[in-house]
Amino acid sequence: MELYVQIGLAVVLAVIGFLLVMNIVQNFKIRRDMQKSENELLDNYQSLKTAYDEMSQAKEELLEHCEELTKSKERMQKTAYTDYLTCLPNRLGYSEFIESEVHAMHQGESMAILDIDIDNFKLINESYGHSYGDDTLREVGRRLTRLVLERGAYLARIGGDEFAVVLKDFSGREELQAQIQQIINYIKEPYRIGEKEFLLTVSVGVVLAPIDGMNCQVLTRNMDAAKFFAKTHGRDMFMFYDDSLSQTIAAKLELQSEIRRAIEDRAFEVYFQPQIDLTSEQIIGFEALLRWNHPERGVILPSEFIPAAEESGLIVPLGEFVLRESCQKLKKWQDEGYVKQVLAVNLSARQFKDRDFMEKVIKIIEETKIDPRQLELEITESMALDDLEYAIKTLQKLKTLGVSFALDDFGTGYSSLNYLKRLPVNQLKIDKSFMDKVLEDHSDQKIVETIIALAQALDLIVIAEGVESEEQADFLKSVSCNKAQGYLYSKPLRETDIKEFLRA
Ligand code: C2E
Ligand code: CA
Ligand code: CA
Repeated sequence: MELYVQIGLAVVLAVIGFLLVMNIVQNFKIRRDMQKSENELLDNYQSLKTAYDEMSQAKEELLEHCEELTKSKERMQKTAYTDYLTCLPNRLGYSEFIESEVHAMHQGESMAILDIDIDNFKLINESYGHSYGDDTLREVGRRLTRLVLERGAYLARIGGDEFAVVLKDFSGREELQAQIQQIINYIKEPYRIGEKEFLLTVSVGVVLAPIDGMNCQVLTRNMDAAKFFAKTHGRDMFMFYDDSLSQTIAAKLELQSEIRRAIEDRAFEVYFQPQIDLTSEQIIGFEALLRWNHPERGVILPSEFIPAAEESGLIVPLGEFVLRESCQKLKKWQDEGYVKQVLAVNLSARQFKDRDFMEKVIKIIEETKIDPRQLELEITESMALDDLEYAIKTLQKLKTLGVSFALDDFGTGYSSLNYLKRLPVNQLKIDKSFMDKVLEDHSDQKIVETIIALAQALDLIVIAEGVESEEQADFLKSVSCNKAQGYLYSKPLRETDIKEFLRA
């Protein structure tokens, strides 16, 4: 072969070889890059997957969180609408329920709402302690639940010792009254909690929707007014609301503001009624009795204003006025040399319970410079029993100063020997109601005799009030009653008439 042909072939072969090598290198590079991208893709996929997993987990956690949140929102809502003690709906729950019920009412439908308020619940708390009070409330709640829910009625605890019941299943007033009475009777059944056995009564205010109100606020206000009436008319009863109730309440509020003005205008005056020793027939004391000199109505007696004054708390300044005025007069008479007797001043429950009561009495004694032995304070059994320990302590303290105490209206209340033994009183006042018929009524006679025997046994003095005739006085003397007070001797007198009366 020709040399140049060989060279040519070799060149061609070399070129082919070079191209082959180049191709291989190229392929290698491509494969390497592909591998790299594949790896990168794999990496990306991996991190995407991780991210996705993380997101799914976060989503799950978020969902759980949401669920938790919904649950705790529900829990919070439930707590906000539930009474922690009885697990019944609370006042907020009650309000919402009434609002929605009133809105959903159809023409001709009627619904009764009862405010069931435990009478003197405070006494349970104070005598047995608050946790005992809580147990009692739970038991009342349980009884109501049993009775009310089986009727498909609604029940809530709307205040400390107040429950609300909503009744819809009744055909008329009579049937409704029977249902209410049944509830009251069930609550009145004896309680046995822990070691103690006791009884409870309730006062119930009743409103009817829609006639007594078209929303919760008005219905509840009227229900309150009805309950208030049940409370002030002796408790242990139910009272339906009617329009005259709100008029009476308005009149009462008007009376209270009149009393307030009368205190400022010094329109109150203290009268004094003599008290007689039945053996010596001498005047041995006076009872201070309050009168209101009304600019239009003339002299008004305490029965017309004391209850309103007591309820509004105005009795506290009014009672302080009576005490100061009485002590000032006593001092004046003494300085003028014609009264050495004891002066009895009536106390009201509110006044006695007032935290500063004892300090006020001491201050007035010091201020007026009277001899405390000439001051007698009249309390009632219910005032003493309201908080027996407090009463004993207060009486004891004032007794050390020389002040004495009489138990007013004795015989009309509990007349329990047990507290009588513990209370440091000096005197029992037989209530006028026993004296009224003492000559005709055999049982009143027996009551008077028993009170006198009881007083003698306990070393107490007895005074009978409301003595109007010589026959009554003779009877009292025959049963060894110590003292008497009444129109037979004198009506309550103005201060200006005392001197003349004593002279006569
Ligand atoms: P009380 O403490 O039982 O007073 C006796 C009441 O019987 C007095 O009525 C007196 O005027 C009346 N009375 C006395 N003897 C006779 C009588 O022979 N026949 C008749 N029919 N009545 C007689 P008053 O003055 O109307 O007082 C009524 C009640 O008002 C008192 O009953 C007392 O609970 C209360 N009260 C009077 N003054 C005050 C006071 O300053 N503070 C307080 N908290 N209550 C007072
Ligand atoms: Ca009295
Ligand atoms: Ca009395």
